[in-house]
Amino acid sequence: MLRPAVFLDRDDTVCRNADLPEAAWGQRTPGDLLDPDHVHVLPGVVEALTRLRAHGFAIVIVTNQGGIARGGGTLRDIDACHDTLRAQLPLDPPDVRAPQPIAHTLIDACYSAPHHPSGVNARFADDHAWRKPRPGMVLSAARELGLDLNQSWMVGDKQRDLDAAIGAGIDPARTIRIDESGPVPDLPAAVDRILDALAPKQPIHAERVTLRTTDEAMRPLADGKVRATVAAAARGIAERTGVRLLDLSLTDTSVTAVLATHRLAALAFMSELRRTTNAWHTRAHGSALWPERDA
Ligand SMILES: [Mg+2]
Repeated sequence: MLRPAVFLDRDDTVCRNADLPEAAWGQRTPGDLLDPDHVHVLPGVVEALTRLRAHGFAIVIVTNQGGIARGGGTLRDIDACHDTLRAQLPLDPPDVRAPQPIAHTLIDACYSAPHHPSGVNARFADDHAWRKPRPGMVLSAARELGLDLNQSWMVGDKQRDLDAAIGAGIDPARTIRIDESGPVPDLPAAVDRILDALAPKQPIHAERVTLRTTDEAMRPLADGKVRATVAAAARGIAERTGVRLLDLSLTDTSVTAVLATHRLAALAFMSELRRTTNAWHTRAHGSALWPERDA
């Protein structure tokens, strides 16, 4: 059976790159991360990939490493970086059915394209089918690992990452570009989005509940302070109890809450709102706001 996968760009998606210190590059072009001492997985990535694995996704890194074509290192340097990366992404507990060393890492495979069209290393000086935005790495991984591209996703920080996936047949709606200043700032946020898309969409069951004041002629909620205190109390109870407050409306004589919960919990919510605001109003104004029981 084919497995769904999440394809990941490596640099500035899984591990740091743009903000690494000068020392990370040595004589190389900045960005060509080929020194395992400077491989640092970004915050929250271990937890995010653990969640993806728990949902049955294979995790595959696809990275352009044109630094090899530019003469900045060898294929062994890429391997050394990926060994460090795997060690920083431990699978806990290990997958006893998986072959070594994959049993101990969250990553199923790392694919890299050492090519660059203006490279100095003749062996890799071309625009190879594996080099993103071309889809070669994604297609090879799908074939070799038995991946279902119809159920797979791509996350990267560059458009070429997304284009490589789209070129391989992944639905553009399943490609996520992370951008510090955008709605998906990092890989953990992208994983939230992927898992959100998997969750069955339940229609929301809403309950509407109303409290009416003891004496309608008094219009106590016409007082802005009373109104604000009741609204704040309702929001506070929602926050404490985890009940979603869909809507809250106040008139001069009533408060109505629309809650995403069942009837009994909605009544309990209003009972708590009645108790706390009555206690406050009795202290502040000498009388209860609401009757102790519904009429
Ligand atoms: Mg990148």
